Amino acid sequence: MTKPSFQALRVVDLHKSFGLHEVLKGISTTASKGDVISIIGSSGSGKSTFLRCINLLEMPDRGRIVLNGEEIALKRSRSGRMQPVNWRQIERLRTGLGMVFQNFNLWAHRTVLENVIEAPVQVMGLNRHEAIEKADALLNKVGLFEKRDAYPAFLSGGQQQRAAIARALCVDPAVLLFDEPTSALDPELVGEVLKVIRELAEEGRTMLIVTHEMRFARDVSSHVLFLHQGLIEEEGPPRQIFDAPLSARCREFTGMLA
Ligand code: ADP
Ligand code: MG
Repeated sequence: MTKPSFQALRVVDLHKSFGLHEVLKGISTTASKGDVISIIGSSGSGKSTFLRCINLLEMPDRGRIVLNGEEIALKRSRSGRMQPVNWRQIERLRTGLGMVFQNFNLWAHRTVLENVIEAPVQVMGLNRHEAIEKADALLNKVGLFEKRDAYPAFLSGGQQQRAAIARALCVDPAVLLFDEPTSALDPELVGEVLKVIRELAEEGRTMLIVTHEMRFARDVSSHVLFLHQGLIEEEGPPRQIFDAPLSARCREFTGMLA
């Protein structure tokens, strides 16, 4: 089957359980190139699990994931669990997904620059010199060039998160996944991180963003998913979700955080 090249990510009927707890009950979505999809919903609704299944930090129980037209090949093992057909493919496709976590997840014993060049050098096989050139440009872009030789502990939370964004960008990801990128930040540091993400949206990067920043989601999203108990309860353009939601649950949720 030929896939239109404008599709950056397609997820079809994703299911995931932890033991008897079915956390994702069949989630499907498509991101065209340049789409910014915000994922909102209360704590425990499955937002992180959804992102973690997309880059296979968690193995889904059922469903399909197609990245840039290439389907992630999964098979069912004898025990009934899903597993990759080919780990090489997973590794390669994973580098096409930049992930930014709530708690930055920088390597504490490496400088900012070393954090940013790690994947390009180790996974993509870029030579160190090229990787540094690229990293410097990205650190400039996120306003962190002066901190390139600092260790994460000497940075503010906002600076650490901007370093994490530079790191995610350095592998030229087809899709960027953000899991509550500003939730661990002091309120005065949220703006500088949202500004960087907003610029990426304006550049036409394809992104999935789990966030509780409703104003931000309304401004940058092309599409919003409202998750409730492992299902998409409502989805649509931000105007629908924030101004005229069809679902009472969605209305209550967005009203609460407005
Ligand atoms: P959200 O990000 O929307 O807050 P999560 O995806 O983190 O939700 O979690 C959804 C549900 O799945 C929660 O009830 C959580 O406790 C459970 N869960 C998430 N990860 C695991 C895990 N590794 N093992 C067991 N339960 C998990
Ligand atoms: Mg979460």
